[in-house]
Amino acid sequence: MRALGLDGVSVYYGAVRGVEDVTMHVDEGEIVALLGANGAGKSTLLKAISGIIHPRKGAITYFGEVLAKQSAHRRVARGLVHVPEGRRIFTTLTIAENLELGAYGTERSRTERAERLSEVLDLFPLLRQHFQRLAGTLSGGEQQVLAIGRAMMSNPRILMIDEPSLGLDPQKVDIVYDMLEEVSKLGTTVLLVEQNVSLALEIASRAYVLQQGSVVLSGPSSDLESDPRLSDAYLGKSSDGRD
Ligand code: ATP
Repeated sequence: MRALGLDGVSVYYGAVRGVEDVTMHVDEGEIVALLGANGAGKSTLLKAISGIIHPRKGAITYFGEVLAKQSAHRRVARGLVHVPEGRRIFTTLTIAENLELGAYGTERSRTERAERLSEVLDLFPLLRQHFQRLAGTLSGGEQQVLAIGRAMMSNPRILMIDEPSLGLDPQKVDIVYDMLEEVSKLGTTVLLVEQNVSLALEIASRAYVLQQGSVVLSGPSSDLESDPRLSDAYLGKSSDGRD
């Protein structure tokens, strides 16, 4: 089943183009990567899907239903969850409190929330270990783990995550990526934005490459790995090889 569909989506910030005419999809259970250089439009697309900004043109569908102007919090309640770049955890609250906030707005009873908390802690033992610690005292990698754990509290159908490896040392990156694999094994569909191309292609089955707001390349990760057009997209060359 198609989990997410974008059809001719254009987003503008006033006169500035964020993305133009993007068509892409993610099937249920897939991990799909969204790649591209700085400013290519990756975060803009995630924001449009999560309802933080609204497209000027085009349609976004979630399990077959057009989202139109549905609010961001309604989308979260329906299982479309976004972990933004920079994690945005509450550093002055404990891990426990941060996790509880992840279930806020999901219309679950207290008992259901407690059950979900225990599932998330089973899944990510690191969070159980530091349960009562202030989130601000965690390392960058641990904070990323917390951000993913918090997102999982609402039991999402789709998890969108923006640059999870940013600023982390390689060992911590491995922990975060193992976690994303766990999330996927549980049946959550993942849309991953990543600057680290080889890392993203290792975990994703397919990828879309954005350049200056448009999709210039897409396909299975195994094909893209060896495609010279991938590095061209990062170096700012056009698809026919011209600068
Ligand atoms: P990065 O990896 O640097 O976050 P990105 O691929 O996520 O890059 P976006 O942040 O989506 O790219 O930016 C796409 C385009 O939209 C860029 O030209 C950027 O300058 C512009 N843009 C993004 N946010 C805004 C904003 N709030 N106001 C105006 N222009 C914006």
